[in-house]
Amino acid sequence: MTRKSNRQITLARRPHGLPVAEDFRLVETPVPTPGEGEVLARTIYLTLDPYMRGMMDDTESYDDPVPLGGVMIGSTVSQVIESNHDGFAVGDIVETYAGWQDYVVAPGAALRKIDPALAPISTALGVLGMPGLTAYHGLLKVGEPKPGETVFVSAASGAVGATVGQIARIKGCRVAGCAGSDEKIAYCLDDCGFDACFNYKTCGDVAQAIRQACPDGIDVNFENVGGEISRAAMMQLNLHGRMAVCGTISNYNATDVEQVADNLWWYIVRRIRVQGLLVTDYEDGHAEALKEMAGWIAQGELVYRETVVEGLENAPATFNRLFEGSNFGKLIIQVSDDPTKG
Ligand code: NDP
Repeated sequence: MTRKSNRQITLARRPHGLPVAEDFRLVETPVPTPGEGEVLARTIYLTLDPYMRGMMDDTESYDDPVPLGGVMIGSTVSQVIESNHDGFAVGDIVETYAGWQDYVVAPGAALRKIDPALAPISTALGVLGMPGLTAYHGLLKVGEPKPGETVFVSAASGAVGATVGQIARIKGCRVAGCAGSDEKIAYCLDDCGFDACFNYKTCGDVAQAIRQACPDGIDVNFENVGGEISRAAMMQLNLHGRMAVCGTISNYNATDVEQVADNLWWYIVRRIRVQGLLVTDYEDGHAEALKEMAGWIAQGELVYRETVVEGLENAPATFNRLFEGSNFGKLIIQVSDDPTKG
């Protein structure tokens, strides 16, 4: 269905702590018209990712913040409904960076064609999209795991974490992790094949739980969370351990600067290599990574979970589920009908 107007969710003011409804505004604008070499695409699925919280703040980061009054940013799976570009036909399914809105006009270079026969198209925002690529490159290029080593990952059942754990398992590592509910722990152990996983909310002593989950120490700490879990994992790192710093979601809503790592001396004692990673640094390897991960999915070696919530208007309230932990796997907004589903 083509709407008469383009609903957009804009950033009305910069959040203080966890975002609230007043930080966003739902506006309606005319559906844009594509120019030469451009297409008009209708949003089917919109991703909600933790990094978006940082883009709401006006602080130095790896990218510019969303301007006040600007449309909230983010990748989408969209359908081409008008095309002035030879490489794209009406009906094509594409991944693009439309943001929180119903329609976008984009040049061909900003579109990645999605093959609906490969996997459900929503996976282009999750396991076969940015989070999956983050897991793949972050683990293999930064963590450099070797068979028999122990990999520990926090936010283990999430879009990035569950993929990290499964790739580590495929590569012959012992895999341990932590997550925030017993259902998520069961998923990591039973469906993703983790060797150990604990509930950091109910375990009592996180450091003790990590020691139990990783009795031979940790060789690669894939860091998604920061704070107490990060400090405890770091103290369990072995000599020449590696720490892939992917995210620190526990302090994305902090209102004062949190002391993330107050025991840096341990990096020296154990000669630990710490490296921050940004998925966009690995673009040259994306095609190969996606091919390999799609193969693992087809063979049943790599599984994934999604939480899909209907309605663009629900994006602001749904976003906070990332910080409450009430998403399970990739968090996605369904903005309009998925034409690939019967
Ligand atoms: P998830 O699908 O894992 O969703 C976020 C999860 O984080 C929640 O479900 C919750 O799970 C957990 N969480 C939230 N708050 C806390 C907290 N205070 N303490 C511990 N756990 C918490 O998200 P993603 O997989 O998309 O992202 C995971 C991490 O990877 C994030 O830090 C993100 O910023 C980062 N990232 C970095 C990229 C890069 O290029 N560097 C690219 C993509 C993601 P639970 O119930 O287990 O608590």
